[in-house]
Amino acid sequence: MSSEDSVLIVGGGPAGLRAAVDLAEMGFNVVLVERRAELGGAPIRWKYHTLAPDMRPTEEVMSPLIDACKSNQRIKVYTSSVASSFSGSPGEFSVEVKGADGSSSTHRVGAIIVATGFEHFDARVDPRYAYGRAPDVIGINELEGMLRSGKIVRHDGSTPRRIGFVFCVGSRDRSTNPWCCTVCCGVSIKQAIELRRLLPDSQIYMIYMDIRTWGLWEKLYWDSMEKYGINYIRGRVGEVYYTGEKLLVKGEDTLVRGPIEVLFDMLVLAVGMEPGEGTRQAARVFGLNLNEYGFLKPRQPNIHFDSGVGGVFLAGACVAPMSIEEALEEGSAAAMQAAKVLIRSSKQRVPI
Ligand SMILES: Cc1cc2nc3c(=O)[nH]c(=O)nc-3n(C[C@H](O)[C@H](O)[C@H](O)COP(=O)(O)OP(=O)(O)OC[C@H]3O[C@@H](n4cnc5c(N)ncnc54)[C@H](O)[C@@H]3O)c2cc1C
Ligand code: SF4
Repeated sequence: MSSEDSVLIVGGGPAGLRAAVDLAEMGFNVVLVERRAELGGAPIRWKYHTLAPDMRPTEEVMSPLIDACKSNQRIKVYTSSVASSFSGSPGEFSVEVKGADGSSSTHRVGAIIVATGFEHFDARVDPRYAYGRAPDVIGINELEGMLRSGKIVRHDGSTPRRIGFVFCVGSRDRSTNPWCCTVCCGVSIKQAIELRRLLPDSQIYMIYMDIRTWGLWEKLYWDSMEKYGINYIRGRVGEVYYTGEKLLVKGEDTLVRGPIEVLFDMLVLAVGMEPGEGTRQAARVFGLNLNEYGFLKPRQPNIHFDSGVGGVFLAGACVAPMSIEEALEEGSAAAMQAAKVLIRSSKQRVPI
């Protein structure tokens, strides 16, 4: 492999996988480095059941990409590995890849794509929601696994009848993360619909600040009320207690401006997206800037792929919270930029 026809991609989630497949299909070689043991990013790690807004099985979107990366001769996958150092200039970088097993290899590549994604907000950080203290308080990421298994059960094995969702947990909150996660309204509503299909006798309450189902995701919101009888309470949760039998949620109804107290069998927290240690590690290695929130900071705010470091491109939720469809598109956009660098630096220069 020569540096002129190879790209190193850091992160094997939707954005990194899409970039890898696009580059391989264009005839370039790819070194794909994923720090976890398996490819697929958040959708595979958390066993997303279906994807909002169309409730498409996650495999239909992710498996073709993962399989292509594993089988394409042009893509060399390093799992349980990170890029540990880099040097050089666009068209001729040298990158060291270190494995968790102590292995090490050096790769000459012409361009680099960083697609290190996000982490879910750890709701233990905000004690209001009793996450980690009371039973049957779970995150939307954990509910995806239950939906996939088709078994929605409380800690004692019983089936919950009254289920509450709390929106904006670890998002739009200056004491934790001030940004909006952009997808968790839609993901929560998708999950509520799936719960009603699985448990037709259940009652579901969504405790929200605002509903942000942008673009075509808005249909989920209308369907949830009109077809599935899901209830909406505009309010904020102040405290959650376990009574020994149920979860008592205390807060404020911000429409009628009065206190509320509601009992639930299960509480689902719409935990947000935040930058993780993987992104900070990549930023250190490649000399990338972080914004005030810890996401990777593009050189210009409206052009995500431009990292400001020549030959190094950004894609996906390491730059900002986003949906899978956006992460896939950003992977393709970064692949195109990397291809331009390779073509420019190749011996057979083509006019651009
Ligand atoms: C609960 C929940 C449900 C969601 N459901 C939907 C949905 O239904 N529909 C939808 O459109 N969107 C959904 N999303 C959003 C979706 O998960 C993201 O848009 C998508 O995962 C972003 O892809 P990504 O590749 O940018 O990041 P990720 O999926 O986070 O993948 C990044 C990868 O990079 C790896 N990595 C990190 N750091 C390093 C490093 N330093 N070196 C090597 N590898 C590294 C990580 O291990 C990971 O595999 C959901 C989000 C949440 C919170
Ligand atoms: S997407 Fe919805 S739940 Fe998530 S932070 Fe934004 S407003 Fe809150």
